[in-house]
Amino acid sequence: MGIFKQLGLREIINASGKMTALGASAVTDEIAQALKDAAQDYVDIDELMEFTGKVISESTGAEDGCPTCGAAAGIAISTAAVITGKNLSLIERIPNTAGLRNEIIVQKGQLVHFGASIGQMIQIGGGHVVEVGQANKVEQEHMEQAITENTAALLYVKSHHAVQKGMQSIEAMMEVAQRNGLPFIIDAAAEEDFQKYIAMGADIVIYSGGKALEGPTSGLICGKKEWMEACRMQYKGVGRPMKVGKEAMAGLITALRQYPLRTSNGEQQIARMTHLCNRLEAIAGLTCSIKQDEAGREIYRAQIQVNEQRAGISAEKLLHLLEAGNPAIYLRHHYVNVGILSVDPRPLLEGQEDIIADEIIRIVKGG
Ligand SMILES: *Cc1c(COP(=O)(O)O)cnc(C)c1O
Repeated sequence: MGIFKQLGLREIINASGKMTALGASAVTDEIAQALKDAAQDYVDIDELMEFTGKVISESTGAEDGCPTCGAAAGIAISTAAVITGKNLSLIERIPNTAGLRNEIIVQKGQLVHFGASIGQMIQIGGGHVVEVGQANKVEQEHMEQAITENTAALLYVKSHHAVQKGMQSIEAMMEVAQRNGLPFIIDAAAEEDFQKYIAMGADIVIYSGGKALEGPTSGLICGKKEWMEACRMQYKGVGRPMKVGKEAMAGLITALRQYPLRTSNGEQQIARMTHLCNRLEAIAGLTCSIKQDEAGREIYRAQIQVNEQRAGISAEKLLHLLEAGNPAIYLRHHYVNVGILSVDPRPLLEGQEDIIADEIIRIVKGG
C-alpha cells in the first residue's frame, strides 16, 4: 500500500502529466534509493553542494551549477545573485536592495503564473520587476529603453504558460543584454533540453528537478562560474528559507546521471494505451484512439471521445466524477469542451490503466 493511502489520504491516479498539484514526478528505484541513503547519512553540506554543482555542469555544459529546492527558488536565488554578487554583507541584506542595482527586465507576456507568480519570485530575491511592452506585443525598443543604471539583469521565461506570439526571441533579448554588459537569465523550468540555452550563450539558466528530469522535488541553476558561486552563497541569506537538503541533492545527482541513459518507452506506452482503448471501445458512446503528442515528443496518449447522446453523459461530467472518486482519477482535459479527454501514460503506475478503464465503464454504464 502506498504511503499516502496508509495516511488515509485519497489515492490519486495521475493521468494528466507532470503536475505540481499532484506531486510532479514519481522517481525511479535508483533515485528513491539515493534519497533514502542520503537521509540516513551525514555529509559536509558545502562539499556536497559544490559536488552537485560539478554534476550540473557536466550535464548542462555550463561552467558550474547550483542546486535548489525548485525552479521557483532558482528565480529568487538567481535574482539575488545578480544583485549582490559574492558580497556577504549585501547577501545578508536581501530582499532589502535600497540603493543597489536591482531592476529585472521581463517581457510583459512572460510575467506569468506557473502555480505562483514569476514576479513574486523575483521580488523575494530583492528584484524590482520592470515589465516591458504589452501582453501580446513587445518590441526591441521596449527592452532597450527600459535599461537604466539600476538594471541588474534581463529574464526570459521559456514556457507554455507564456504568451507565444509577439514576444522578442531569446536571441534578440540576449543580444540586448550582452550589448549592455548585463547578465541574461532564462527560466526554462519545464524544458527537456538541459544544454540548449547554455550553448546559446545564456549566463544563467534555471530548471525544475521534478518536471522533465523526473527527479525528486528539487531544481537547478546552471551558468557562468562567478554567478553560480554567488548563487550558492545565497544559502547564507535569502536562500536559507528555501534550503535544498542532502536528500534532494543526492536524488538530483542520480536523476541527472540517469537522464542521458533514458530510453524511449514509446512502444510500451502504445501497448498500454491500446489495451485501455480496446476496453473503452466496447462501451456505447465512447471512441478511443492513440494520439502522439502535439509537439512531436515521444508521448502516446489515449484520446477518448465522448458522444454525450449515446453515452448518456458529457465529457465534462465524466471528468468531474472521475476526479471526485476514490481513487481520484485526473485525466488531461485541454479539449473537454469538444468532448475529448486524454490519458497520459507517463505518470501511470503499473496496472492503473485498468483502474481507469474500470471507473470510466462503471460511471458511463451507471450514468
Ligand atoms: C513549474 C515552473 C516553475 C517552478 O518550478 P518548481 O520546480 O515547481 O519550483 C517556474 N517557472 C516556470 C515557467 C514553471 O513552469
